[in-house]
Amino acid sequence: METAPPIPADPIAEEVRVAAERLDLARRYRELDRRPEFPWREFRQLGEAGLLGLHTASRLGGRGLPLPRVGIGLFTLAYRSGTAFAKLSLQPEFSRVLAEHGSAELVEEWFRPIVRGEKLVGNQITEPGAGSDASALSLEARPDGNAYVLTGTKSEAAFASDAQAAIVYGRVTDADPHAAITAFLVPQDLEGISRGVDAPDLGERWQRRGQVRYDHVRLPARYRIGDVGRAFGYLRGEFTRERALLAAIYLGAAWASWEETVRYVGGRVAFRKPLSAQEGVSFPLVEDGVRLEAAWLYVEKVLGRLERGEEAEGAAALAKWLATETALSAIDHAIQFHGGRGYSGALPHEQRWRDVRSGPIAHGPSEIMRLVAARELWPRPSAP
Ligand SMILES: Cc1cc2nc3c(=O)[nH]c(=O)nc-3n(C[C@H](O)[C@H](O)[C@H](O)COP(=O)(O)OP(=O)(O)OC[C@H]3O[C@@H](n4cnc5c(N)ncnc54)[C@H](O)[C@@H]3O)c2cc1C
Repeated sequence: METAPPIPADPIAEEVRVAAERLDLARRYRELDRRPEFPWREFRQLGEAGLLGLHTASRLGGRGLPLPRVGIGLFTLAYRSGTAFAKLSLQPEFSRVLAEHGSAELVEEWFRPIVRGEKLVGNQITEPGAGSDASALSLEARPDGNAYVLTGTKSEAAFASDAQAAIVYGRVTDADPHAAITAFLVPQDLEGISRGVDAPDLGERWQRRGQVRYDHVRLPARYRIGDVGRAFGYLRGEFTRERALLAAIYLGAAWASWEETVRYVGGRVAFRKPLSAQEGVSFPLVEDGVRLEAAWLYVEKVLGRLERGEEAEGAAALAKWLATETALSAIDHAIQFHGGRGYSGALPHEQRWRDVRSGPIAHGPSEIMRLVAARELWPRPSAP
């Protein structure tokens, strides 16, 4: 059985490996856990290395790589240096709604600098009363002359205090209530905005999640992204791509733990023989190896479908579900088979587990991923 990562040979994997070594990202990933702040320096360096916006079109400053190759790059980045820098690499993808539907002026001022690692733009969808069911969000955007007045609270948001702007999803009050969800690019220093970080997270602490309150914030109309009432559709397209790409990240991190564990149990002696000679240890590791590889093949297939422009919303949701379940189980075994040190911060497994543990909640909980897929199997009858 191979322990080399299951990804195909591709120049992007080698490029990422060289950059991760040059920037010392594996060590800096570990530091980030102890110094939970937004890694501006690394963000900028990733931009300079051309590792932000791997999928972003070259006319917008990105690399324009096809999705399966982006998946290989992200898998490699997570395999070499944990999830944090791979997620940073996806920041332009998380702002794709802005790139695709924002005005040329907004794209120039806010999107291109993300690809260079100069500006951080958050996404604010979740509210205290609307999370899994994002369509229930209620932040009010009241038209007032050539502006909108925003009132409401966003919660759980990554980079709550660090982002210079956020793509904020709200409801335009005089629009049709069934089609009112609209996106806005909101600079976070406007009058009436207050923001703060919540209690520290289990993992990915550098994202410093928190709440942002909008108290009658006046936003010029030019900051609206796309059409009134169309943003939920935009968001679904973005979610589909990012879920499939996140899946590659989780599998890359888990492959590192799996490989390190395979090596470790071959040398660690207990009861006068290597741990690998115990079937209670070797069988779960053999199973993890094939499960991770199979999950990668599924993710790769979904990325290929998306690249060809095929409809794959349910498949992308399942890719994230499958990757997080498989990765968490494999990293859990890595902690277990390293014994006491596996549970400690001396080794990277517990950090990887804590970071990957966000996967079944963030960007849509695992239950909702299966709901999205189930709706494709059993479509709801259309209204008479
Ligand atoms: C690390 C991290 C980063 C995040 N970053 C952002 C961000 O930048 N911007 C942002 O807007 N949000 C962000 N979120 C929030 C995230 O999108 C929400 O937490 C998620 O959508 C769930 O919403 P909720 O917390 O309100 O949970 P709820 O909607 O209250 O659901 C709680 C749980 O109930 C279960 N559940 C819910 N509905 C169903 C159902 N229909 N069937 C079965 N089970 C169900 C699920 O297990 C779910 O986790 C982030 C979350 C995390 C963990």
